[in-house]
Amino acid sequence: MSGRIPREFIDDLLVRVDIVDLIDSFVPLKKAGTSFKARCPFHTEKSPSFSVNRQKQFYHCFGCGAGGNAISFLMEFSHLDFVEAIEDLAGFVGIDVPREAVEYQGQKQNYSALYSILEQVAVFYVEQLRDHSQGVKAIEYLKKRGLSGGVAKDFSLGYAPDRWDALASRFDQSLLLDSGMLGRKDSGGVYDRFRGRLVFPIRDKRNRIVGFGGRVLDESLPKYLNSPETAIFSKGKELYGLYELLEKNSKPQRILIVEGYMDVLALAQFGIGNSVAALGTATTKMHLDLLFRFTSELVFCFDGDAAGQKAAWRAVQEAFPCLRDGRQVRIMLLPQGQDPDSLVRLEGLAAFEGRVLGAQVLSDYFFEYVCKDLNLATVEGRSKFLVQAKPFIEKVPAGVFREMMFARLKKLSASSVLDVLGKPAMLEGAVTESTVEERQVKMSPIRIVIALLLQNPRLYELVEQQELNWAGLNCPGMDVLKEVIQTIEDIRPKNAAILMESFRGKPSEKVVNALINWDFFILDDGIEAEFSGALEKLIEQVDEGILERLLVKEKEGGLTENEKNHLCKLLTRKL
Ligand SMILES: [Zn+2]
Repeated sequence: MSGRIPREFIDDLLVRVDIVDLIDSFVPLKKAGTSFKARCPFHTEKSPSFSVNRQKQFYHCFGCGAGGNAISFLMEFSHLDFVEAIEDLAGFVGIDVPREAVEYQGQKQNYSALYSILEQVAVFYVEQLRDHSQGVKAIEYLKKRGLSGGVAKDFSLGYAPDRWDALASRFDQSLLLDSGMLGRKDSGGVYDRFRGRLVFPIRDKRNRIVGFGGRVLDESLPKYLNSPETAIFSKGKELYGLYELLEKNSKPQRILIVEGYMDVLALAQFGIGNSVAALGTATTKMHLDLLFRFTSELVFCFDGDAAGQKAAWRAVQEAFPCLRDGRQVRIMLLPQGQDPDSLVRLEGLAAFEGRVLGAQVLSDYFFEYVCKDLNLATVEGRSKFLVQAKPFIEKVPAGVFREMMFARLKKLSASSVLDVLGKPAMLEGAVTESTVEERQVKMSPIRIVIALLLQNPRLYELVEQQELNWAGLNCPGMDVLKEVIQTIEDIRPKNAAILMESFRGKPSEKVVNALINWDFFILDDGIEAEFSGALEKLIEQVDEGILERLLVKEKEGGLTENEKNHLCKLLTRKL
C-alpha cells in the first residue's frame, strides 16, 4: 500500500488477468453456455444466479445485483481496499506493482517506508530480547508464564528497552512518528512510546507489521499498550495472531477469539494455534467478516464475570449481520477469574478443548440472554421479549438460520403475531394499529379465500355451491386459487396437511406454505362466515372485472349473444 499505482498498470492488469480463473480460485464455477455460474458468494441462495462472463470479464448476480470486474470482486469478496485488491491481483498474475510517490495528507508519504521501518524496529526489539543485559527481565517473565523460545520466535516477540530514546536515537524520527512508535512531548521533543515492555509485533494478514502491542514486566500501568491508529494501522481491522494462525493452517475448522495477546500465546504454547485477539477494542463486524473468510465457525472466549458477559453480548450483536447460512458463532464463558491463558494451564489441553467443543451456540446464548429477566408465563413478559429480540434477528441475512431464529422467537413468545404479515421483518413491535391496517391491505379477498381453503379444505363445499365462471380471468393470485381448487377436487384431502403435501416441489409451494401458515385470529366457528364473506367479495371483484371488459368490448362494437346475456345479468345484479 505505497505510492500511487499508475493507471496504465491497472489497465494492463485487467487485460492480463482472467476473471474466470480468479473467481474460480475462490468460488468454484461451472460452465453454463457462454458464461460461468456459481451460487452467489455475496448473498444466500439455493440455485446459482451468480454469473461470470469471460468475454466481458465481468461478474453479475441476478439475485442481489452484485457485479463488477476482477478488482471489484477482490474488494468485495476479500474485504480489501482498492490498492490491496490491485496488489493481490498483481500477485495472482505474478507481477510486481510499480510505484509512484503519493501525496498523503499534504505530505510526501510512502506507505512502504512505514512498513519497512516497523520491520526494522521489530528486528531491533527481538535483538534486545536476546541481549541478556537488556532483555533478561522479559525472558524471565516469558519463562514464568511458561512460554518457550519457540513461541517467542513464531510470534517475533521482542523487548523495548527501558529508555526514552532507544528508537529515536537509531531510526528516522519522522517515519517513527508517522508509524506511531514515537510520542511527541509538549516541548516538541520526541520519546519512545514503548519502554521497558515485552512487545508483540502485530502483522496484517499479508505479513506486514502494522503496529505493536506492549506489556509491562512489573505492576505499573497501563499493563498493555498498543500502537495508535496510523495510516497503516486500524484496530478495527486487524487481529492479533491471524497471520501466524494462517501460516500454520490456511483453512482452520474454527477460530477462537480471545481477549489478549497472552491468551493467544499461551494457547499456542499448548498447541492450540487457532486463536486471535482483538487489539484492545471490541470485536467489530469487520473483524468477523475477515475471520469468516478463513473458517465457518468462530468461538468467542470471554471471562465469566460481569465485564466478560457484557463483552460477549456486544460480540453477539456484532455477529448477527455476519451470520449467513453455513456460518456458526459460539460463546464460551470461562469460569470467573479465569482467562484462556490461566485455564489451559490449570485444566490442560484436553479439558480446554472439551470446553471449546461444548461452547454454547449463539442462538441458545441469545435467547437465554434476552429471556433472563423476563417472565414468559405472562403476556407482558412475552411481548417484551418479542419486542426486544426481534430487531436482532432481523439483522441476520436472509436464509434458513434467520427463518429458524424467527420460528424459535415465535414459539418462545407463543405469538402468532409474526405470521400476520407472512413476513416477520416488516413487523414493528407487537400488534399495533398500523399492523392491523397492513394486515387488511395484505389480506385481499383472494388471499383469504386461498388461505382458508388450504387450511380448511372442507370449505370447498361452499365454492362448489357457487356457480363460478372465472374463465379467462387473470387477476393476481387467480392461478394459485385455480390450482388449489383443482387439487382439492382431484385428491379430496382429509386435512390441510395432505393438501399441503401435494404442493411439495411445485412452483406454487412457497406461496402455499406461506398462506397455509397464515393466522386469522378467528375462532373455528367463525371460519365459514369469514370464508363466505371473502368469497363474496372475490366474486364481486371478478364480476367487476368481467363487467369492465364486456363494456369495453361493447363500445368497440362486438358482443356475442352469450356475452350480451352475461352483461345484462351483471348489470341487473349491480342494481
Ligand atoms: Zn448475489
